[in-house]
Amino acid sequence: VTPAGYVAPMTSTPEPVIEHATPLVHLAAVNKHFGPLHVLQNIDLDVARGEVVVVIGPSGSGKSTLCRAINRLETIDDGVIELDGKPLPAEGKALAKLRSDVGMVFQSFNLFAHKSILENVTLGPIKVRGLKKKQAETEAMALLERVGVATQASKMPAQLSGGQQQRVAIARALAMKPKVMLFDEPTSALDPEMVNEVLDVMVSLAKEGMTMIVVTHEMGFARKAADRVVFMADGQIVEQSDPESFFTNPQSERARDFLGKIL
Ligand code: ADP
Ligand code: MG
Repeated sequence: VTPAGYVAPMTSTPEPVIEHATPLVHLAAVNKHFGPLHVLQNIDLDVARGEVVVVIGPSGSGKSTLCRAINRLETIDDGVIELDGKPLPAEGKALAKLRSDVGMVFQSFNLFAHKSILENVTLGPIKVRGLKKKQAETEAMALLERVGVATQASKMPAQLSGGQQQRVAIARALAMKPKVMLFDEPTSALDPEMVNEVLDVMVSLAKEGMTMIVVTHEMGFARKAADRVVFMADGQIVEQSDPESFFTNPQSERARDFLGKIL
């Protein structure tokens, strides 16, 4: 386990470096305040292509703010956030492109209530990717099939269960062909019997190689799909490791205390 901020002693043998690939998501010394509240404190985080990072931590620790900053739904005070080696754009077309490159799924499903399921998924591709309606519909149906709700395509969001709506939200984000998917507590608002149908879709996405940052307390998901668990508390990354080590042998008192409460 390498705690955040751990610096290897000068005498240690460096690990063999296989590839100097640019991380897909790169945060360095990111700081963010809400008035007096220092919500992100010197956050360093690299996410490699195809990596699945689960972010876990007490309520109020800055997990949602972190996700929102990566999608530029929040600005940061200082530090660097890069996607694919480029700083996040601030405005205009480039920002719209960023929002499609960084797919986001929230706790509340946020579907367009007055559009059909199919339209929810085709809207972005038509507007932002410039697809013809027919092409957008073909792609959307394939995605709805993939998340198991193709038969619901002509219905309105309110006619679907929470689990179905959340799977549509995932399909909608995927329709933009994102480079990375952010999930912010995607199952927290669901009735318990619907949690697994959403997690199953996320596990299969992870297995297909999607780069994912997932805020969740679902240990089963972390164990099945995560390459790394990042534990946040009070705006800081307190520790990070592979899921098995984190859940069975957390290093910090904060993490032990937190796991004691949720497990
Ligand atoms: P988490 O997702 O880990 O629960 P958040 O990132 O939502 O944490 O919030 C971290 C802290 O920042 C909390 O104390 C929250 O109240 C505060 N906060 C979040 N958004 C805002 C905002 N827009 N204005 C002021 N404070 C905020
Ligand atoms: Mg949150």
